[in-house]
Amino acid sequence: MSQSHRTFKFKARLTATGHKRLGKILGVLTDLYNAGLEERIGAHKRKRLSVRYFDQCKQITDLRKEFPELAEVDLRVLRSPLNRLNKAFQGFFSRVKNGQTPGFPRFRAKRRYRSFEVDDAPGPMLKFGQNGKVRIRIKGLPSVSFKPNRELPPIEDLKVLRIVRTAKRTEVQLVYRIDVPEPIRAEDAVSPVGIDLGVLNLVALSDGTKVPGRNPERKRIKRVQRKLSRAKRGSNGRQKICDQLARAWQTEKERNRGYLHERSREIVDEHDQIVAEDLQILNLTRSAKGTVAKPGSNVGAKAGLNRSIHDQGWGTLVRMLDDKAERAGRRLDLVPPHHTSQDCSGCGRRVLKKLSVRVHRCDGPDGCGLVLDRDVNAAVNVLRRGLSSPPGGTVPGEVGGTFETNRRKTTGSSPSGPGPARPVDPEPYTEVA
Ligand SMILES: [Zn+2]
Repeated sequence: MSQSHRTFKFKARLTATGHKRLGKILGVLTDLYNAGLEERIGAHKRKRLSVRYFDQCKQITDLRKEFPELAEVDLRVLRSPLNRLNKAFQGFFSRVKNGQTPGFPRFRAKRRYRSFEVDDAPGPMLKFGQNGKVRIRIKGLPSVSFKPNRELPPIEDLKVLRIVRTAKRTEVQLVYRIDVPEPIRAEDAVSPVGIDLGVLNLVALSDGTKVPGRNPERKRIKRVQRKLSRAKRGSNGRQKICDQLARAWQTEKERNRGYLHERSREIVDEHDQIVAEDLQILNLTRSAKGTVAKPGSNVGAKAGLNRSIHDQGWGTLVRMLDDKAERAGRRLDLVPPHHTSQDCSGCGRRVLKKLSVRVHRCDGPDGCGLVLDRDVNAAVNVLRRGLSSPPGGTVPGEVGGTFETNRRKTTGSSPSGPGPARPVDPEPYTEVA
């Protein structure tokens, strides 16, 4: 057994005054976040000093003496924005270190600051009542309750408690530590699959399956957007339409998540080893080429929306695959995505093609004759990388080496020579004589 985390989300129940009070506290937390950010920026500018999380937390004690409204709120809740700020800075610095150019952490508007978390022994805050209702008691906060619709892990495994306001509701999120089985060893996997994160389709699988993306329902969003553009700036009605728009997006987002849950479930049910492209590298290599430029109709109008949904969709899908695989003792391996769509999965030859060319054809005097759907060819290449199985073993060093990924490393044969005899059988292709 090894350990992982799982988040349970529930709709929070609050009274009307509770809602108001929660809004007020989130306002206080925004102020703390922004004050903490200001301090860090100031120290950085003056002396290039960095301010530590713990130093900032100590200041809360003084602030509580000065501002009685802070004294009324649980200390752990007040630390939450500083903790978040700290993580934002850690992320910022690590991206700088990696040679990226991240955006500096920014001041937050109250309207956009919608959550806090307690990650320091939140267990005792939950009171389990009769009739299955659970009450959350946090000092200074309105009482929040929820009704779990499934069984929760033991309370001592509760690591983080979050209260999150979405556009549609307030949510209780509980992060539990859970036991998961050891992942299957790569060499024991019997039904491996490679997946290519596509644009026309959500993904293509190396067995030839194409999983279409969900068609976003734009109608409602478009309608509200039109309404919004007609509304008078600063008017009360405009704010209401803004909220409506946020709810419409939230609905869309939730439906999309539901769709991705179903699709990832199907993939994990059928395959014990899943090999996908490493998104961190993929985003760098693909975005510059303009993945959205695609053949067919309706490119222009849908491009922006599709693009954002795709970008999020990939990340979400891979995370879901990872989660589900982990819980089932299956494995997800991430491999570098370079040239997966260009290289021939039959012989390893590089066959350059534009994005509009949807079929991979390895023809010409040096070709092996493989004709295969472009994305399926890419998926087979992804699978081969995961299995360290070079195409035909004819191109030493091209694929089939050991690839560095920042997650589980793919292991396999030496960089040269044919890989282990792992069968990779892209079924739906036609061999051309
Ligand atoms: Zn070929």
